[in-house]
Order: sequence, then C-alpha cells, then structure tokens
Amino acid sequence: MAEPKTNESMEKIVSLCKRRGFIFQSSEIYGGINGFWDYGPLGAELKRNVKELWWNTMTREREDVAGLEATIIMSPAIWKASGHVDTFSDPMCDCRKCKKRFRADQLCEDQGLALTKDANGKFIFPAGTKCTNCESTDLTEPRPFNLMFKTYVGPVESEDNVAYLRPETAQAIFAQFKNVMETARQKVPFGIGQIGKAFRNEVTPRNYTFRSREFEQMELEFFIKPDEAVEAIHGSVVTVPETGHPGEPQPNWGWQAWHQYWVEERVRFYEGIGLARATLGFHRQTAEELAHYARACVDILFKFPFSKRDENGNVKGDELEGVAARSDFDLSQHARFSGKPMGVFDDELRQAWGKLPKEKQDDLWRRYYENRKRYLTKSGVEAEAAGKQATDDANGLAKGQYIPHVIEPSAGVDRLILALITNAYTETVKTDDKGKSETIYTMKFHPRVAPIKVGVLPLLKNKPELVAKAVAVRDLLRPWMNVYYDDGGSIGKRYARQDEAGTPFCVTIDFDTLGEKPELLDTVTLRYRDDGKQERLKISELRDWLLARIR
Ligand code: ATP
Repeated sequence: MAEPKTNESMEKIVSLCKRRGFIFQSSEIYGGINGFWDYGPLGAELKRNVKELWWNTMTREREDVAGLEATIIMSPAIWKASGHVDTFSDPMCDCRKCKKRFRADQLCEDQGLALTKDANGKFIFPAGTKCTNCESTDLTEPRPFNLMFKTYVGPVESEDNVAYLRPETAQAIFAQFKNVMETARQKVPFGIGQIGKAFRNEVTPRNYTFRSREFEQMELEFFIKPDEAVEAIHGSVVTVPETGHPGEPQPNWGWQAWHQYWVEERVRFYEGIGLARATLGFHRQTAEELAHYARACVDILFKFPFSKRDENGNVKGDELEGVAARSDFDLSQHARFSGKPMGVFDDELRQAWGKLPKEKQDDLWRRYYENRKRYLTKSGVEAEAAGKQATDDANGLAKGQYIPHVIEPSAGVDRLILALITNAYTETVKTDDKGKSETIYTMKFHPRVAPIKVGVLPLLKNKPELVAKAVAVRDLLRPWMNVYYDDGGSIGKRYARQDEAGTPFCVTIDFDTLGEKPELLDTVTLRYRDDGKQERLKISELRDWLLARIR
C-alpha cells in the first residue's frame, strides 16, 4: 500500500470511524467542541494496543529504559525553565473582512508561500498573502499566541496560582531525572519513557484528529554521555551513516550514532505494526529550522490522505514523530532554574581522564567549555558569569562529572491511530451473480494492533450444542485476547461486520466441531480477514496459534 489514499477517502474514513465506533466527536450531543475527540469501543481498544506495544518495546523489553507516569499539572516553574511560558507560541492572524482566524504560517503554506521574520524576529507576511476564506488581503499582523492551557490551583484565581496543563510529557521526565535514575539503578546511557495526555490550545485544529487540542504522547528521553566524555573514555567517537540501522548500541557511540539508532528503532516499530516504510517519509530539519540547542531532528512522517503533494506530485507526509538530539539543554535549564544539580558522576570518565595525555585533556576541556559557554550565553546568562560557569563545568568534566545529553523520540498516539486507520482502510466493490454491486469495507489492521483479535461465531444460534461449544471457545480465549462473540445474522454478515472492525481472524463452530465428521471433532473453521481463506484448526491449538500472530 505504498500509494497514499486520496483526500476524498478521508470523508469516508471519518464516516466509517463514527459508524463503527472508532472515533466520535467529543460532546457531540451539544454540537461538539472543536479539537477534541472521543474514542469509541473499537478506537479505545486500538489505542490501548498501540500504547501497550510502545510501552513494551520501549521499556519492558529493554534493559536501559525505565518508565514514569507523572502528573498533568506541575509546578509552573517547570514551564518557565523549559521555555514554554516565553516561547511556546504559534503566529496567529485574523482576516479583518470575514473575521476568520488563522495560523499565519499555515495560511501562507496553503498558498504556496512562506511566513518570514524580519531582522527583529517579528513575523511578516510575504507579498500577496490573502485570506483563504474570502480572498481579502486585509489581514492583521501575525502575533504570537501561547498554546498552553492556563488554569488556577486552589480557590483563588490570582496570578500566583496560575498553572498549566502540560503541553508535552517530556518535561516531567527531566524534572524527575535524578529520582528515576537512582531508584531504577540506571547509569548513563539510559532512558525514561512516558505515555500521557498533553494539551495545546491549537489556533486551528484540523485534519480530523491530526491536530487536536487534547491528545496523547509517547515520549522517550534517552540520556547519553557528552561526546567529550565518550572520547576521553574510548579515544574517539564513532559516527554512523545517516541511513540504515547502525545495529546494537556501542560504548563509543556519540550523539550522532545514538540519534540515528533511535530514528531507525522507531521506524522498525512502525513497520512492526503494519506501516510499511513506503508509507512513511522523513524530514531532516535544516539549520534554520533547528532550535539553537538542538544538534539534529528527524521528523518521521506518514503519508496521510490529506498530506500535500510537492511540485513533482510526490507526497511527503505529515509528522507522526520527531526524533531530536537536544544536547544537554533540558537538564541544564532545570539545573539553572531549580538550583538543584542535574549532573551525574561517571567513575569510568574520571579514571580515563587521569590517563589522558595533557594535550588531549586540554583539547577536550576546551571543547566542553566552549559548548557549555555557548549554551549559557544563548540562554541569556551574561558573558562573564557564563565564562565562569563554563569553567566550573569543564573542571567538573575532568573529575568525571557532566550533564547528560539527550535524544528524544517523541510520538503522538492520536496521529499514529489516524495513520493506522487510514492505512488499514480498504474498499472493494463486489458484484453478485445478478450484476448487483456493493462496496465492501475492510480495515486491514496488523493483528498486533487490531482492536478485536478474533471473532467467535456459532454457525446457528438456535442449536444449543453449537452455542455451548462456541461459548466455551470464547471463554478459553478471553483471558488472553480481545474476543468478540457474535451469533446474530447470517455467517456472511457476521464476517463482514468483523472485516469492517478489522478483526484479523474469525472462528466458526459448526456441526463438524461437534463431530458430524468424526475426524473433525473439536476443530473449528478459521477464516482470514484479508483473503477470506479458510482452514481447519484444533481447538486445543487455537490459543497458541492466535497468540503467535497477535503478539
Ligand atoms: P506540529 O509541528 O505538527 O505542530 P510539533 O513539532 O509541535 O508538531 P512536537 O512538539 O514535536 O510536535 O510533539 C511531538 C509529537 O506529538 C508530534 O510528532 C505529534 O505526533 C504529537 N502532537 C503534537 N501536537 C499535536 C496535536 N495538536 N494533536 C495531536 N498530536 C500532536
């Protein structure tokens, strides 16, 4: 399925999602609320599966990652330190004629233009920018709009009690870095993963759930040694090609190798749940796009039906996940703002440093000093103080101390669900003997994410022996997977219902199961969703057969 679906299919997908209970508009009976979505019975299962797979892959199945579940509301000081209070904003503008509000960068993009900044960092519209609703060019100047939702903690609505709903889960990981490292008995390199809600007051939510105001993130912060420490310990820092998986992590990897490793690990994850590489795209941020502290950022894109085509007709895709190499910015900010040390002590580094020739020590000391000074001055620390602090930091390095750097793979659950849904959506037109055509919808989810793993269907519902056997099969499988028992309507109808729900397998309990053909006693008909093929399977083997395919 390399060819992305068209925007036209988006409407049908939205309609199927509602009809089958994947996604509903939040507060629908009151007319809905823009940018908020509810997951129905099938959507809730799909989402759970995705989060559990991420959690297992990223934490439980690794020695070097621990989990965290932090609060949504945290000390507002966290958002000051992270920069969100001052800079987490999008440019917004209004059309003076029709009064419609836009995100200024998107408004330009929709017209093939780019919003630019003047010498003072103020946004300016390129010539010819107009309202996409009424074509007027009478637009207000783009002004920054902070995306954080504000609230008050306690009964008094005063400035002192302001708090924010977190706009990302990552900051809690940085704030709890020391606690997690100590309690999980981890040493750098290691990571902390978290799944949870995030809130952004997006100016213009759009493209269904793609840009919502309440959504969930799955984030990993993977802490690594600064390159100067790796070089001191191992003599040099290994870099890897910017394409392909670099293999098992090595002690002499620097940030570049770890970054490439995580990009490829994440792609493997997507492939493992049914998003073929051809459905994905990549965007390596340019120097202009990168935040001042970031070394690199690769966005992993998915080719959604609404993704735009470039001048050659190719679909690039829209962001599913960003994998960023963020240097030591985050922990450094929290160290400065909280006054609590965020550095670690590395005895291997201390010992290695003592054995280095003086020249090498001086070279590494100077490079570390320069990096720290650059960070400090860019973050607003006055030059003299920055120089002094950087000297202390570089002296610390020589004693085995440093602030870890971080690689951050940050994914959105809801965007992934939307990618899985659009990827799974398949239409086929079937024409019967009388020439009557009907469109059949099949959700071809990978069995690992499918909301229902198996449909259990008694051939007839008015035969107690068939029903009893089918109930027994359902109860046998239930502790292990999500089973759907269905005895309503013709068997063809029931298969079709499961196809639409994306159930990869159905088992039918028929008279042969009861021993009409003695050699078939206690076997069931197993039907595959994607090609309708059927085979016989022993009930005693069913559970393991299914488990091998859904895990
Ligand atoms: P975008 O540029 O699309 O706004 P972003 O670069 O601001 O995204 P990040 O801050 O890197 O996004 O957040 C990490 C991930 O969280 C994104 O890759 C995306 O999957 C998810 N995400 C961010 N904003 C939203 C949103 N408004 N609705 C749904 N998911 C979101």
